[in-house]
Amino acid sequence: MNGSTIRMPALFFGHGNPMYAIEPNPYAEAWRVLGESLPRPAAILAVSAHWYTRGTAVTAMDRPRTIHDFGGFPRALFEVSYPAPGSPALARRVQKLLAPTPVQLDEDAAHGWGLDHGTWSVLKHVFPQADMPVVQLSLDAAQTPQWHYTLAQRLSPLRGEGVLIIGSGNIVHNLQRLVWTKNAPPHAWAQRFSEWVRARLLAADHAALSDYLAAGADARLSVPTPEHYLPLLYVIAQQGAGEAVSFPVEGLEMGGVDMRAVALGLSPAAALSPGN
Ligand code: ZN
Repeated sequence: MNGSTIRMPALFFGHGNPMYAIEPNPYAEAWRVLGESLPRPAAILAVSAHWYTRGTAVTAMDRPRTIHDFGGFPRALFEVSYPAPGSPALARRVQKLLAPTPVQLDEDAAHGWGLDHGTWSVLKHVFPQADMPVVQLSLDAAQTPQWHYTLAQRLSPLRGEGVLIIGSGNIVHNLQRLVWTKNAPPHAWAQRFSEWVRARLLAADHAALSDYLAAGADARLSVPTPEHYLPLLYVIAQQGAGEAVSFPVEGLEMGGVDMRAVALGLSPAAALSPGN
């Protein structure tokens, strides 16, 4: 079957610790199982928390480099490569869909962006062959969550063109409040906010999810800065009327890093993967 004839799922991943890219862990295992259940996309459009920019940009080089955008991790993590090709054609398609919002084509394979760890630490497990073109779309740091949600809606034709849209961040992400004790229970505020988001996702309440700070103190602690939350809005903006959401991966790590994955358009078998 031709990829362009399938309406692709859309997926949000909680990526968590970059070491999940190389250390055995239950999240990576769940990502691998999920990947095996997915239809093969023609290309992937990834919105990562880690490309947070002035204005909006899209990677448009033939060979995006693997970016190791972190410090203080073992050498093995800096040696990870995810050599997926780019797709200048998809980059231009995204630019056209998002017009009149200006989208800069990043064509500089040597010094521009590429694939950052928000993208490759997950895709390395979901699609280990790295043989599908991947394009990253940046997050304009100057804009409101509602602006991002509205912008993302313009990407919806891509699902019918064989493009898998993924967001990578964490619904709860507060690095100042990490708990380093093994198997520590999550912070109560993290648990409450995670449950609030889950309920709003099940109700397809996109207005509340876009206005998340109105949820109060739990939201302010769980989302102290927007960049890890915003990729979720790019995924839910793809939700068709009556289309169900599922949560192929769940778990609160280190007190409150929410590893929840959110899926649209998964087949029932894939939506019922272990841990759900
Ligand atoms: Zn991150």
